[in-house]
Amino acid sequence: MWNSSLRLLALAASLVLGAFSSDAAGEPLAKELFGAKTLPAAAEPASYGFYSKGCFSGGMAIATDGPHWQAMRLSRNRRWGHPDMIRLIERLSRDAAKAGWPGLLVGDISQPRGGPMLTGHASHQIGLDADIWFTPMPNRRLTAAERESVSAVSMLRDGSLHVDDRKWTPLHAALLKNAARYPEVERILVHPGIKKKLCDTVRGDRSWLRKVRPFWGHDYHFHIRISCPKGSPGCSSQNPPPRGDGCDQSLAWWFTEEPWRPAKGPEKPKARDIMTLAQLPPACRTVLAAASPPSELAVTVTGPEAPVMATTVKAYDTIDPAEALSSIPASAIPLPMPRPTGR
Ligand SMILES: [Zn+2]
Repeated sequence: MWNSSLRLLALAASLVLGAFSSDAAGEPLAKELFGAKTLPAAAEPASYGFYSKGCFSGGMAIATDGPHWQAMRLSRNRRWGHPDMIRLIERLSRDAAKAGWPGLLVGDISQPRGGPMLTGHASHQIGLDADIWFTPMPNRRLTAAERESVSAVSMLRDGSLHVDDRKWTPLHAALLKNAARYPEVERILVHPGIKKKLCDTVRGDRSWLRKVRPFWGHDYHFHIRISCPKGSPGCSSQNPPPRGDGCDQSLAWWFTEEPWRPAKGPEKPKARDIMTLAQLPPACRTVLAAASPPSELAVTVTGPEAPVMATTVKAYDTIDPAEALSSIPASAIPLPMPRPTGR
């Protein structure tokens, strides 16, 4: 057990001492600094900045396994989010199960302290975005290796912008409706083909369709975004979706050539490849420097109840993490999660 802890410390040290890539002026890139954090910032939960430019403190993790979910791609360590986001996923897993969905496969949420990522996603930076697979949870526990390798299934017909009716079911629509009806959910991103399917098939209450927005990708998973939570004055809201169900010309545009045309001119660098701490909200420096909670387990959501330590975040806010670790009995220190290399 201590060996594993020491190995983790050694890894952390090598990450600190190792050469970070930097921008032209020699400033380290924010994605390297945030990507190196393995635990959240132990402080009051708060999101800073915007979904695609920010960070958060007081993060919690969704457990790798729950009664109605399994987290995927564990090696990425992106099971972290603002507590409101994590609790909402747990709640959705129960509500969806009641409606007949076999369980959630949970994709990326955020890094422990958010921020830009080394790979993937432009957003998911402030702990308020989560990807849920359209593939239902199998009726057995996947191994850690399977969670790296199993591929999600596209809901589209091969080479088409339209949903494959052999894959899409009313349960998929019910899952999206379940997620969209939570007041905290600000919007849900799906492939335009899926939005079209909903527009064509949803009867009765269609008000929830307003929150379901067409976007590139999102045929293997959907993306839940929640609004800026209470206690996050530094969080910038997104403009609400336009009124109506969105089954209009704005959707028709996705079925023209324009959105799929390759961009002209030289490729612009991705934001994450140039973003330094200076471009993030100033609070992100504090978030980066904050102490960690004593363990991952202390801030992991495993069911409807709040994790043991989560209610006492303030208590360990100022504690040196090494000290906190030595003050709890060895038997209470959970084994570190296996983190295979690669994505
Ligand atoms: Zn996403």
